[in-house]
Amino acid sequence: MPELPAKPGEGVASGRAAALVQMRSVGKRFANGTLALSGLDLDVFEGEFLTLLGPSGCGKTTVLRLLAGLASPSTGKIAWRNQHKPEIGFVFQEPTLMPWADVFDNVWLPLRLRGLSRAQAKADIEEMLELVGLAPCARYYPRELSGGMKMRVSLARALILRPALLLMDEPFAALDEVTRFKLNNDLLAMKARLGTSIVFVTHSVYESAYLATRIAIMAAQPGRIVSVLDVREPLQRDTDFRHSAVYSERCRQASRALDAAMPAGAEP
Ligand code: ADP
Repeated sequence: MPELPAKPGEGVASGRAAALVQMRSVGKRFANGTLALSGLDLDVFEGEFLTLLGPSGCGKTTVLRLLAGLASPSTGKIAWRNQHKPEIGFVFQEPTLMPWADVFDNVWLPLRLRGLSRAQAKADIEEMLELVGLAPCARYYPRELSGGMKMRVSLARALILRPALLLMDEPFAALDEVTRFKLNNDLLAMKARLGTSIVFVTHSVYESAYLATRIAIMAAQPGRIVSVLDVREPLQRDTDFRHSAVYSERCRQASRALDAAMPAGAEP
């Protein structure tokens, strides 16, 4: 794409992959007058795992919705590489499965909407269920699944169209810690296998430091990016990484940056 001016420390100059999308001076004012975002600059680079970390109400979901095209910016620009918005997957905190359909049919939905029959979609769906660890559960209904399993179905459904970009809005926030840790690891393995770029919203410093290759820290009123932290350690993260001094240091840095982004006395 015709590159928009790079932010200091970003883009080609720092030897990064190309930007998949560039948000420049993006503002979003809702009909009721709320200024959710103002002057927001953000690049999403090919292949990265970017987390958006910030307090409630700072505009994280709004950034995802703008990237997904579910809302339009009031001001500023969102420029996609080659002026082409790629296939995008979206995973919400609620798995939002169809209760009357089994796992297989829930994952089939995006392909069905593209006109593929069950038979045409079967091989793809089976491969995706294998990838998310649900191959034996294809005929289960949502009511028969745990919260973690439902989230796996939601992931499979988001990934079935092989999106170049996966947007995730606090997907594991409602899960217990053991399940969340397991899903964190499995998500990284899926990403490595499919090469998807991910933008992941969280308000957990720990989850952010574990998953991200880059952490964008946001402040509220109006929502904006206040700092960006690189987490350069390779993405093959595991229990050893979770217990490492490097991980603790990344958590400390992210926590400090988040503190600096919060007005005194504010709740995260
Ligand atoms: P976060 O995801 O960081 O919690 P949001 O992006 O959901 O923040 O919201 C940012 C701000 O915009 C908040 O003040 C929220 O109340 C407001 N907001 C979000 N969606 C709407 C909407 N549809 N209409 C009016 N205000 C909204």
